[in-house]
Amino acid sequence: MSSGTVNKDSLVRDLKAIGLQQGDLLHLKVSMRSVGKLEGGADELLDAILETVGEEGTIVSDAFINVFPLPLSEEHQQIIADDKTLSYAGAFANAMIKHPKMERSKHPIQKFAAIGKQALNLCENHTPESGGYDLLDAMAQMDAKNLTIGGDVVGVGTTHVAIDHLNFKRKEMNTGALYRDQDGEVKLAKTNWNGGCGRGFPKFYPLYREKGGMLAEGKIGNADSVLTSMKKTLAIEIAKLQQEPRFFFCDDPACYSCQISWEHSPKNYLSFGWAWLRKNSKNLSLSRFKNLYRVLMKRA
Ligand SMILES: [Zn+2]
Repeated sequence: MSSGTVNKDSLVRDLKAIGLQQGDLLHLKVSMRSVGKLEGGADELLDAILETVGEEGTIVSDAFINVFPLPLSEEHQQIIADDKTLSYAGAFANAMIKHPKMERSKHPIQKFAAIGKQALNLCENHTPESGGYDLLDAMAQMDAKNLTIGGDVVGVGTTHVAIDHLNFKRKEMNTGALYRDQDGEVKLAKTNWNGGCGRGFPKFYPLYREKGGMLAEGKIGNADSVLTSMKKTLAIEIAKLQQEPRFFFCDDPACYSCQISWEHSPKNYLSFGWAWLRKNSKNLSLSRFKNLYRVLMKRA
């Protein structure tokens, strides 16, 4: 982009240039801040993507909702999720949720938003009994593409799926949220998937490039973006993690998720505790200490 002006027409050009086509099945991870200023905000990017994939295409975004510690506090018992509940996943996810043709996956909390030909089918098969990332697994089997827009967005959609495939175990997260089921009954959904830190996921990028998972790299607006084959990145991740199960961990020695929470985490409590203290030494408080204590006591 020479002028720096980003609008729907320039976005459509960028999307075509990176390789998006009519009829594509596409998973999206988007940082609106990286794209640049758009008069129409996230709706303008959404319109550009829908125009590019056309009537035969389908787009899917993470559109997860907040979960809370269990047992739920009185305040959190007032929050009851449904298909229109907004997501913490950002402005683009919420633009999709508000779109009149949006379908929302039927998983009560790990919800995706989808628009297009396959949207209803994908969403109806992601049920309360499904794993959190099963919808992305289904998309990989259907040879979907992933478009990650913005260098500050981590991952290409399949790494959590690979982790689930390999059956890595993590301390159960005691969180959940209330939702209204199809009969209107209010029920509790507990977090039933691993999730975890994604800051190590960009380590896979050189492997995607080397082994054919990376379809294209370029700019969407001002954002560094990658287009990947979900089937291929999933296969690459599974193969790598079979050899080296810790490969997806981030490099932060104070990261509880990577250093402690998995069965195959290093679990070096002394070095973790020390790193945590160094990281938090500028703004230590009693509540932070209590947090660390809680975290470390989970070891039992
Ligand atoms: Zn981490």
